[in-house]
Amino acid sequence: MLVGTAVELGVVELVVGVEPVVDVVSVEVLVESGVVVELLTGIELAGAMPEYLRRIMTNHGIKHKKISIELVEAAPHLVPRLPKRMGKAIERQLRRLGIKLILGEAVQGETADSLTVGGKAIKSHTVVWTAGQSNVPFYKNNAFNLTERGKVAVDDHLQAEPHIYVLGDNNNTLYSGMAQSALHDAKFVAENLAREQAGQRTRKYKPKKPIYVLPAGPNWSAVLWGKVQFYGFAGAILRTLADLIGFHDIEPWWHATEQWMTEFGEQEECPVCITHRAEDY
Ligand SMILES: Cc1cc2nc3c(=O)[nH]c(=O)nc-3n(C[C@H](O)[C@H](O)[C@H](O)COP(=O)(O)OP(=O)(O)OC[C@H]3O[C@@H](n4cnc5c(N)ncnc54)[C@H](O)[C@@H]3O)c2cc1C
Repeated sequence: MLVGTAVELGVVELVVGVEPVVDVVSVEVLVESGVVVELLTGIELAGAMPEYLRRIMTNHGIKHKKISIELVEAAPHLVPRLPKRMGKAIERQLRRLGIKLILGEAVQGETADSLTVGGKAIKSHTVVWTAGQSNVPFYKNNAFNLTERGKVAVDDHLQAEPHIYVLGDNNNTLYSGMAQSALHDAKFVAENLAREQAGQRTRKYKPKKPIYVLPAGPNWSAVLWGKVQFYGFAGAILRTLADLIGFHDIEPWWHATEQWMTEFGEQEECPVCITHRAEDY
């Protein structure tokens, strides 16, 4: 069972118990929101599960088992912080993959073999929570000024206190929670420190809207780039290229390309699946 599309608050429960005795391979994804949804790990994971589960079932000789995947989101639509049209496109895509969506319902509780959602028990026995991110306790323990969401309040120079900068996921800037924002923060502070050193006037922080690329199943991603939205294979290509560019941000092109190429391989530890993979080639 999978619970959660987001890291802010939610649950992901994942059953990968593909043993011959299993009649139903069940994966449920539930997102508790109401708190801002920042990350979309659960959507990505849910989208990847059907093909993955079918493949390992085939490799292990488990046939005719029903795969049941459910995604539960407390908000009425997926990715409630992003445009509704995008949420709906992702919902359509996940349904196409056979994933059942339970929207507008919050997770109320969990036992060893079930999850309570909207007053009903859903049978499940393994939970992976992808939506439970919170700030490191350091800030609370050291009396930083925290917002309602537990983020550190920073000024327009990203300072919590004079000369104490808080960057990335822990600060309360508009797009905090994304790697792109963390890098933007780092660049901003580095430039300001250099300006200060050179006796120049420092600049005020301006949040930079990230480019959202959300994979949901093989060869399919939803993209929100400024006001432009597109979905499908073109999005998947952009997602792959984004990794190459990301690697190049920190290393030269040849190393970045080498690193990037490893994405097209697989890290497989199961001896049975390794054998099947070798046979595929
Ligand atoms: C599964 C997953 C998928 C993601 N996918 C994307 C994506 O596709 N695109 C995107 O833009 N963002 C993505 N993110 C978000 C992205 O990873 C974060 O926004 C980004 O890493 C934040 O950078 P940061 O430097 O603030 O924190 P981090 O990268 O978390 O770095 C903080 C570091 O501080 C260390 N630390 C913590 N406490 C202490 C302490 N007391 N002393 C010393 N060290 C300490 C931690 O161990 C950690 O290494 C994803 C996140 C997750 C979890």
